[in-house]
Amino acid sequence: AKALGKSRYVLFNQDMYASAITRLQLEVDLRRAIEHQEFQLYYQPIVSLISGSIMGFEALLRWQHPKRGLLAPGEFIPLAEETGLIVELGYWVLFQACRQMQAWLVSYPQHSLEKMSVNLSAKQFCQPNLIEQIRDILLSTGLNPNHLTLEITETVIVENGDEAIAVLLQLQELGIEISIDDFGTGYSSLGRLYSFPISVLKIDRSFINPMTTDKRNLDIIEIIVTLAHKLGMKAVAEGVETQQQLAILKDLNCEFVQGYFFSKPLPSSDAVALIAANPQL
Ligand code: C2E
Ligand code: CA
Ligand code: CA
Ligand code: CA
Repeated sequence: AKALGKSRYVLFNQDMYASAITRLQLEVDLRRAIEHQEFQLYYQPIVSLISGSIMGFEALLRWQHPKRGLLAPGEFIPLAEETGLIVELGYWVLFQACRQMQAWLVSYPQHSLEKMSVNLSAKQFCQPNLIEQIRDILLSTGLNPNHLTLEITETVIVENGDEAIAVLLQLQELGIEISIDDFGTGYSSLGRLYSFPISVLKIDRSFINPMTTDKRNLDIIEIIVTLAHKLGMKAVAEGVETQQQLAILKDLNCEFVQGYFFSKPLPSSDAVALIAANPQL
Protein backbone atom coordinates (compact mmCIF):
# COMPACT_ATOMS: atom_id res chain seq x y z
CA ALA A 1 0.00 0.00 0.00
CA LYS A 2 2.91 2.25 0.80
CA ALA A 3 4.48 1.68 -2.61
CA LEU A 4 1.21 2.44 -4.31
CA GLY A 5 0.80 5.64 -2.30
CA LYS A 6 4.27 6.70 -3.24
CA SER A 7 3.88 6.05 -6.92
CA ARG A 8 0.57 7.86 -6.88
CA TYR A 9 2.24 10.86 -5.36
CA VAL A 10 4.92 10.81 -8.02
CA LEU A 11 2.47 10.40 -10.89
CA PHE A 12 -0.10 12.90 -9.71
CA ASN A 13 2.00 16.04 -9.54
CA GLN A 14 0.95 19.68 -9.58
CA ASP A 15 1.02 20.07 -13.37
CA MET A 16 -1.15 17.05 -13.88
CA TYR A 17 -3.59 18.34 -11.31
CA ALA A 18 -3.86 21.62 -13.22
CA SER A 19 -4.28 19.93 -16.57
CA ALA A 20 -6.83 17.48 -15.16
CA ILE A 21 -8.89 20.45 -13.98
CA THR A 22 -8.58 22.13 -17.38
CA ARG A 23 -9.59 18.93 -19.11
CA LEU A 24 -12.53 18.41 -16.82
CA GLN A 25 -13.64 22.00 -17.36
CA LEU A 26 -13.28 21.55 -21.12
CA GLU A 27 -15.32 18.38 -21.03
CA VAL A 28 -18.09 20.06 -19.05
CA ASP A 29 -17.95 22.99 -21.49
CA LEU A 30 -18.11 20.65 -24.49
CA ARG A 31 -21.24 18.93 -23.25
CA ARG A 32 -22.89 22.28 -22.58
CA ALA A 33 -21.79 23.61 -25.96
CA ILE A 34 -23.53 20.79 -27.79
CA GLU A 35 -26.78 21.54 -25.91
CA HIS A 36 -26.47 25.31 -26.41
CA GLN A 37 -25.48 25.01 -30.05
CA GLU A 38 -22.26 26.94 -29.74
CA PHE A 39 -20.75 25.10 -32.69
CA GLN A 40 -20.53 26.58 -36.12
CA LEU A 41 -19.31 25.34 -39.47
CA TYR A 42 -16.89 27.31 -41.59
CA TYR A 43 -16.52 26.48 -45.26
CA GLN A 44 -13.30 26.59 -47.27
CA PRO A 45 -13.57 26.49 -51.07
CA ILE A 46 -11.87 23.73 -53.06
CA VAL A 47 -11.05 25.03 -56.51
CA SER A 48 -10.62 23.15 -59.78
CA LEU A 49 -7.32 23.84 -61.57
CA ILE A 50 -9.00 22.70 -64.77
CA SER A 51 -12.03 25.00 -64.81
CA GLY A 52 -10.69 27.63 -62.41
CA SER A 53 -13.95 27.72 -60.46
CA ILE A 54 -15.14 26.52 -57.08
CA MET A 55 -15.78 22.77 -57.17
CA GLY A 56 -16.79 22.39 -53.55
CA PHE A 57 -16.20 23.25 -49.93
CA GLU A 58 -14.67 21.55 -46.93
CA ALA A 59 -16.73 21.97 -43.76
CA LEU A 60 -14.50 22.91 -40.82
CA LEU A 61 -15.76 22.99 -37.26
CA ARG A 62 -15.49 26.05 -34.99
CA TRP A 63 -16.59 26.56 -31.41
CA GLN A 64 -17.95 29.95 -30.44
CA HIS A 65 -16.95 29.68 -26.79
CA PRO A 66 -18.77 32.17 -24.51
CA LYS A 67 -15.56 33.08 -22.65
CA ARG A 68 -12.67 32.02 -24.87
CA GLY A 69 -13.97 33.25 -28.22
CA LEU A 70 -13.79 31.36 -31.51
CA LEU A 71 -11.88 28.10 -31.02
CA ALA A 72 -10.24 26.08 -33.81
CA PRO A 73 -10.74 22.30 -33.81
CA GLY A 74 -7.20 21.66 -32.61
CA GLU A 75 -8.25 23.04 -29.23
CA PHE A 76 -11.17 20.69 -28.62
CA ILE A 77 -11.36 17.84 -31.16
CA PRO A 78 -8.72 15.69 -29.39
CA LEU A 79 -10.72 15.77 -26.14
CA ALA A 80 -13.99 15.25 -28.00
CA GLU A 81 -12.35 12.15 -29.53
CA GLU A 82 -11.16 10.87 -26.16
CA THR A 83 -14.49 11.34 -24.41
CA GLY A 84 -16.51 9.99 -27.31
CA LEU A 85 -18.40 13.28 -27.63
CA ILE A 86 -17.05 13.46 -31.18
CA VAL A 87 -19.72 10.99 -32.25
CA GLU A 88 -22.56 13.33 -31.35
CA LEU A 89 -20.62 16.33 -32.60
CA GLY A 90 -19.74 14.57 -35.84
CA TYR A 91 -23.38 13.75 -36.46
CA TRP A 92 -24.25 17.42 -36.00
CA VAL A 93 -21.46 18.43 -38.43
CA LEU A 94 -22.59 15.99 -41.08
CA PHE A 95 -26.23 17.04 -40.80
CA GLN A 96 -25.39 20.74 -40.89
CA ALA A 97 -23.00 20.41 -43.84
CA CYS A 98 -25.46 18.34 -45.90
CA ARG A 99 -28.30 20.76 -45.19
CA GLN A 100 -26.11 23.72 -46.16
CA MET A 101 -24.96 22.07 -49.39
CA GLN A 102 -28.50 21.22 -50.39
CA ALA A 103 -29.56 24.84 -49.78
CA TRP A 104 -26.69 26.13 -51.95
CA LEU A 105 -27.45 23.67 -54.74
CA VAL A 106 -31.08 24.80 -54.77
CA SER A 107 -30.15 28.50 -54.74
CA TYR A 108 -27.39 28.20 -57.35
CA PRO A 109 -28.39 25.43 -59.75
CA GLN A 110 -26.14 26.76 -62.55
CA HIS A 111 -23.05 26.94 -60.38
CA SER A 112 -20.11 24.52 -60.76
CA LEU A 113 -20.61 23.40 -57.14
CA GLU A 114 -20.25 19.62 -56.91
CA LYS A 115 -19.08 18.43 -53.50
CA MET A 116 -19.36 19.12 -49.81
CA SER A 117 -16.41 17.56 -48.01
CA VAL A 118 -16.86 16.50 -44.39
CA ASN A 119 -14.19 15.20 -42.00
CA LEU A 120 -14.96 11.89 -40.37
CA SER A 121 -13.17 11.05 -37.13
CA ALA A 122 -11.81 7.60 -36.29
CA LYS A 123 -14.46 7.03 -33.60
CA GLN A 124 -17.24 8.04 -35.94
CA PHE A 125 -15.96 5.77 -38.67
CA CYS A 126 -16.12 2.82 -36.26
CA GLN A 127 -19.72 3.42 -35.15
CA PRO A 128 -21.78 0.35 -36.10
CA ASN A 129 -24.70 2.57 -37.16
CA LEU A 130 -22.61 5.00 -39.27
CA ILE A 131 -24.17 4.00 -42.59
CA GLU A 132 -27.66 4.17 -41.16
CA GLN A 133 -27.03 7.65 -39.73
CA ILE A 134 -25.62 8.92 -43.00
CA ARG A 135 -28.58 7.51 -44.89
CA ASP A 136 -30.95 9.27 -42.47
CA ILE A 137 -29.13 12.57 -42.87
CA LEU A 138 -29.18 12.37 -46.67
CA LEU A 139 -32.86 11.52 -46.60
CA SER A 140 -33.88 14.30 -44.24
CA THR A 141 -31.74 16.98 -45.92
CA GLY A 142 -32.62 15.83 -49.43
CA LEU A 143 -28.96 15.93 -50.47
CA ASN A 144 -28.01 13.58 -53.29
CA PRO A 145 -25.17 11.35 -51.99
CA ASN A 146 -23.03 12.16 -55.03
CA HIS A 147 -22.65 15.68 -53.65
CA LEU A 148 -21.02 14.35 -50.47
CA THR A 149 -17.34 13.55 -49.93
CA LEU A 150 -16.11 12.06 -46.67
CA GLU A 151 -12.52 12.77 -45.63
CA ILE A 152 -10.85 9.98 -43.68
CA THR A 153 -7.20 9.69 -42.66
CA GLU A 154 -5.10 6.77 -43.88
CA THR A 155 -4.47 5.67 -40.29
CA VAL A 156 -8.18 5.05 -39.74
CA ILE A 157 -8.33 2.79 -42.77
CA VAL A 158 -5.12 0.95 -42.02
CA GLU A 159 -6.04 0.35 -38.37
CA ASN A 160 -9.48 -1.01 -39.21
CA GLY A 161 -8.41 -3.41 -41.94
CA ASP A 162 -11.12 -5.46 -43.60
CA GLU A 163 -13.91 -3.81 -41.61
CA ALA A 164 -12.81 -0.46 -42.97
CA ILE A 165 -13.05 -1.78 -46.51
CA ALA A 166 -16.56 -3.06 -45.79
CA VAL A 167 -17.64 0.38 -44.56
CA LEU A 168 -15.98 2.12 -47.49
CA LEU A 169 -17.74 -0.21 -49.92
CA GLN A 170 -21.10 0.58 -48.35
CA LEU A 171 -20.41 4.30 -48.63
CA GLN A 172 -19.41 3.85 -52.26
CA GLU A 173 -22.58 1.85 -52.81
CA LEU A 174 -24.56 4.84 -51.53
CA GLY A 175 -22.76 7.05 -54.07
CA ILE A 176 -20.60 8.88 -51.54
CA GLU A 177 -17.03 9.77 -52.49
CA ILE A 178 -14.12 8.96 -50.17
CA SER A 179 -11.09 11.19 -49.86
CA ILE A 180 -7.91 10.27 -47.97
CA ASP A 181 -7.01 13.23 -45.80
CA ASP A 182 -3.45 14.29 -44.93
CA PHE A 183 -2.12 11.78 -47.42
CA GLY A 184 1.59 11.07 -47.03
CA THR A 185 1.74 11.61 -43.27
CA GLY A 186 0.50 8.20 -42.11
CA TYR A 187 1.79 4.74 -42.80
CA SER A 188 -0.30 3.82 -45.79
CA SER A 189 0.04 0.32 -47.07
CA LEU A 190 0.60 1.49 -50.62
CA GLY A 191 0.25 -2.08 -51.81
CA ARG A 192 -3.37 -2.20 -50.65
CA LEU A 193 -4.35 1.29 -51.65
CA TYR A 194 -5.64 0.14 -55.02
CA SER A 195 -8.08 -2.25 -53.35
CA PHE A 196 -9.86 0.53 -51.44
CA PRO A 197 -12.80 2.34 -53.05
CA ILE A 198 -11.14 5.76 -52.82
CA SER A 199 -11.61 8.64 -55.26
CA VAL A 200 -9.34 11.37 -53.96
CA LEU A 201 -5.92 11.75 -52.33
CA LYS A 202 -5.54 14.94 -50.35
CA ILE A 203 -1.89 15.98 -50.16
CA ASP A 204 -1.04 17.21 -46.68
CA ARG A 205 -0.25 20.86 -46.13
CA SER A 206 3.14 19.94 -44.64
CA PHE A 207 4.37 19.00 -48.14
CA ILE A 208 2.84 22.01 -49.91
CA ASN A 209 4.21 24.64 -47.55
CA PRO A 210 7.95 24.03 -48.23
CA MET A 211 7.53 22.83 -51.83
CA THR A 212 9.24 25.84 -53.41
CA THR A 213 12.17 25.86 -51.00
CA ASP A 214 12.86 22.14 -50.56
CA LYS A 215 13.09 19.97 -53.67
CA ARG A 216 12.33 16.79 -51.70
CA ASN A 217 8.82 18.02 -50.93
CA LEU A 218 8.23 18.80 -54.57
CA ASP A 219 9.33 15.24 -55.44
CA ILE A 220 6.91 13.78 -52.89
CA ILE A 221 4.04 15.87 -54.24
CA GLU A 222 4.81 14.75 -57.77
CA ILE A 223 4.86 11.12 -56.64
CA ILE A 224 1.52 11.44 -54.81
CA VAL A 225 -0.16 13.07 -57.82
CA THR A 226 1.24 10.38 -60.13
CA LEU A 227 0.15 7.65 -57.70
CA ALA A 228 -3.37 9.10 -57.54
CA HIS A 229 -3.65 9.15 -61.32
CA LYS A 230 -2.24 5.64 -61.75
CA LEU A 231 -4.90 4.39 -59.34
CA GLY A 232 -7.66 6.30 -61.11
CA MET A 233 -7.99 8.88 -58.34
CA LYS A 234 -7.80 12.66 -58.24
CA ALA A 235 -5.47 14.82 -56.20
CA VAL A 236 -6.25 17.81 -53.98
CA ALA A 237 -3.45 19.99 -52.61
CA GLU A 238 -4.30 21.61 -49.28
CA GLY A 239 -2.70 24.66 -47.72
CA VAL A 240 -1.90 26.37 -51.02
CA GLU A 241 -0.86 29.90 -50.12
CA THR A 242 1.08 31.31 -53.09
CA GLN A 243 0.75 31.82 -56.82
CA GLN A 244 4.04 29.98 -57.27
CA GLN A 245 2.74 26.85 -55.51
CA LEU A 246 -0.40 27.05 -57.59
CA ALA A 247 1.52 27.25 -60.87
CA ILE A 248 3.63 24.20 -60.01
CA LEU A 249 0.60 22.15 -58.94
CA LYS A 250 -1.07 23.01 -62.22
CA ASP A 251 2.06 21.83 -64.06
CA LEU A 252 1.91 18.56 -62.13
CA ASN A 253 -1.72 18.08 -63.26
CA CYS A 254 -3.06 18.18 -59.70
CA GLU A 255 -6.83 18.58 -60.13
CA PHE A 256 -7.82 20.69 -57.13
CA VAL A 257 -6.39 23.20 -54.69
CA GLN A 258 -7.53 24.46 -51.32
CA GLY A 259 -5.82 27.13 -49.26
CA TYR A 260 -5.46 30.73 -48.15
CA PHE A 261 -4.30 31.78 -51.63
CA PHE A 262 -7.88 31.43 -52.83
CA SER A 263 -9.76 31.76 -49.53
CA LYS A 264 -9.63 31.04 -45.82
CA PRO A 265 -12.45 29.00 -44.29
CA LEU A 266 -15.52 31.26 -44.23
CA PRO A 267 -18.70 31.49 -42.19
CA SER A 268 -21.74 30.42 -44.19
CA SER A 269 -22.85 33.98 -45.07
CA ASP A 270 -19.44 34.81 -46.58
CA ALA A 271 -19.25 31.47 -48.37
CA VAL A 272 -22.59 32.05 -50.06
CA ALA A 273 -21.45 35.52 -51.16
CA LEU A 274 -18.42 33.85 -52.75
CA ILE A 275 -20.63 31.33 -54.56
CA ALA A 276 -22.79 34.18 -55.85
CA ALA A 277 -19.73 36.15 -57.03
CA ASN A 278 -18.31 33.00 -58.66
CA PRO A 279 -14.66 34.13 -58.76
CA GLN A 280 -12.22 32.39 -61.12
CA LEU A 281 -8.69 31.35 -60.26
P1 C2E B 1 -7.71 19.21 -42.03
O1 C2E B 1 -8.85 18.32 -42.33
O2 C2E B 1 -6.40 18.85 -42.60
O3 C2E B 1 -8.19 20.66 -42.49
C1 C2E B 1 -7.36 21.60 -43.10
C2 C2E B 1 -6.85 22.61 -42.09
O4 C2E B 1 -5.90 23.45 -42.73
C3 C2E B 1 -7.93 23.55 -41.55
O5 C2E B 1 -7.59 23.85 -40.20
C4 C2E B 1 -7.76 24.77 -42.43
O6 C2E B 1 -8.25 25.96 -41.83
C5 C2E B 1 -6.27 24.80 -42.60
N1 C2E B 1 -5.86 25.49 -43.81
C6 C2E B 1 -6.48 25.51 -45.00
N2 C2E B 1 -5.79 26.22 -45.91
C7 C2E B 1 -4.69 26.66 -45.28
C8 C2E B 1 -3.57 27.48 -45.70
O7 C2E B 1 -3.45 27.90 -46.84
N3 C2E B 1 -2.61 27.72 -44.77
C9 C2E B 1 -2.70 27.27 -43.49
N4 C2E B 1 -1.72 27.58 -42.64
N5 C2E B 1 -3.74 26.50 -43.07
C10 C2E B 1 -4.72 26.21 -43.95
P2 C2E B 1 -8.67 23.83 -39.04
O8 C2E B 1 -9.97 24.38 -39.54
O9 C2E B 1 -8.03 24.45 -37.84
O10 C2E B 1 -8.88 22.30 -38.78
C11 C2E B 1 -7.85 21.49 -38.24
C12 C2E B 1 -8.21 20.04 -38.27
O11 C2E B 1 -9.29 19.75 -37.40
C13 C2E B 1 -8.66 19.55 -39.64
O12 C2E B 1 -7.53 19.34 -40.43
C14 C2E B 1 -9.40 18.30 -39.27
O13 C2E B 1 -8.51 17.22 -39.08
C15 C2E B 1 -10.01 18.66 -37.93
N6 C2E B 1 -11.43 19.02 -38.13
C16 C2E B 1 -11.98 20.17 -38.52
N7 C2E B 1 -13.32 20.10 -38.58
C17 C2E B 1 -13.64 18.83 -38.21
C18 C2E B 1 -14.87 18.10 -38.07
O14 C2E B 1 -15.97 18.61 -38.32
N8 C2E B 1 -14.78 16.81 -37.67
C19 C2E B 1 -13.58 16.21 -37.42
N9 C2E B 1 -13.57 14.94 -37.04
N10 C2E B 1 -12.41 16.85 -37.55
C20 C2E B 1 -12.44 18.14 -37.93
CA1 CA C 1 -9.85 17.45 -43.96
CA1 CA D 1 -6.24 17.66 -44.55
CA1 CA E 1 -3.88 18.50 -42.46
